[in-house]
Amino acid sequence: MFKFMMGCLTCAVVAQGAGAQGPGESGGQKISRAGSATASPGPAAYFTGEVRVEPVFPVTSSINASGGLVTFQPGARSAWHTHPAGQHLVVTAGVGLTQEWGKAVQEVRAGDVVWCPPGVKHWHGASPGTGMSHLAITGSVEGRNVDWLEKVTDEQYASR
Ligand code: MN
Repeated sequence: MFKFMMGCLTCAVVAQGAGAQGPGESGGQKISRAGSATASPGPAAYFTGEVRVEPVFPVTSSINASGGLVTFQPGARSAWHTHPAGQHLVVTAGVGLTQEWGKAVQEVRAGDVVWCPPGVKHWHGASPGTGMSHLAITGSVEGRNVDWLEKVTDEQYASR
């Protein structure tokens, strides 16, 4: 359980609120009301700058992916990382940056959707001058959905 919680971007928080059953698993529809989820700061070990993570939906026995709304203040970003089952990012607000290892930094804006394939090293975050929020939909393998690597240096962040 410790490894699971340490390795997971949003699911530790999601698991707290979800109980034993996920949405739909009790046999009926479930509506999670706006603002009812508890947001957490992105841990300093895995993020640079001010980051807020709000759980949106947990892994269930039906769908092996969790959702989290991540908000990065200007200049904030994740560390380099990979996802064992991949990740969809739906940019919901602002202007962000993302980069795959060995490739150029790319700008993303509200409405853009990014697919991060399994095992591909990357990072994502805000642009220097404008914050960014994205919905992260992340698949899990045996309860793990992210493998964290080194921080993104200021030089790497400013390299575009
Ligand atoms: Mn990612």
